[in-house]
Amino acid sequence: MQHAPLLLADDEAPACELIEGSGSRPIIFVCDHASNRVPRSLDRLGLADHHLEDHIGWDIGAAAVARRLARWFGANAVLAGYSRLVVDLNRALHDAGAFPEISDGVLVPGNIGLGMQARGARAREIYHPYHRTVRQLIDADTTAEQTPVFIAIHSFTPRSNGVERPCHIGVLWDTDPRLPLPLMRALRAGRDIVVADNEPYSGRHPADFTIDHHAEPLGIAHTGIEIRQDLVRDEIGQERWASRLADALRPLLEQDALYTRLTAAAGAPSDRQLPVERRRTGLLAGEPGA
Ligand SMILES: [Zn+2]
Repeated sequence: MQHAPLLLADDEAPACELIEGSGSRPIIFVCDHASNRVPRSLDRLGLADHHLEDHIGWDIGAAAVARRLARWFGANAVLAGYSRLVVDLNRALHDAGAFPEISDGVLVPGNIGLGMQARGARAREIYHPYHRTVRQLIDADTTAEQTPVFIAIHSFTPRSNGVERPCHIGVLWDTDPRLPLPLMRALRAGRDIVVADNEPYSGRHPADFTIDHHAEPLGIAHTGIEIRQDLVRDEIGQERWASRLADALRPLLEQDALYTRLTAAAGAPSDRQLPVERRRTGLLAGEPGA
């Protein structure tokens, strides 16, 4: 049965933007929180424009960094077309955070008491098309001998609950150390960059849905990268930090071993070595999170 479109008008932006790379290496960048757009039919979710422009609406600066990295590496990229407040693509649909009623202390009127039909429309028209696009890219880049490298780009607020966050970049990971460990070493070689390991959010957190859903189960080399928002608010910062990331990533992304499925020999801890209680780092109730 065909569902009538309930959310997006024909002239509105698609659920996501796909950038198809022409590079020789299969590299995929994803940006779950690239956009602060809200479908017209949702009337800004009842929020003032300044709330949507703030970090609760999107990951400030992340899309611009992801676009640059995709261009420089000739990589594929998928960028969200709509705000995390419409539906958070980095959450399981059944997670309360997928349709946040409150975000960093701000009530989201358009999400209060959201019914099944409204949730279904956001899932059908935005959430599923985004994740389908990501999966199709992965499938297209996967052969018997080769798998793509998967990198999620996010940004975080310089202050949370009144506490300053001193790190410039956080590298998020869980069971596959192949990309994140050398990436942290390369970034730290810059000396003036404060690089955090699984901070301010942890890659071990169940809320890190996109990586947990797409990359980990397939054994694809991956990492999440969090950049502090004040560093990438303007074009100069976006260019500078994208270029620092590119410099650190370039030699790593040259290595053939990264384009293969994770095996025990590559250093993955066995399930038994992982903590039973997955670590919760930094994420407080109502905080927008990774
Ligand atoms: Zn994010």
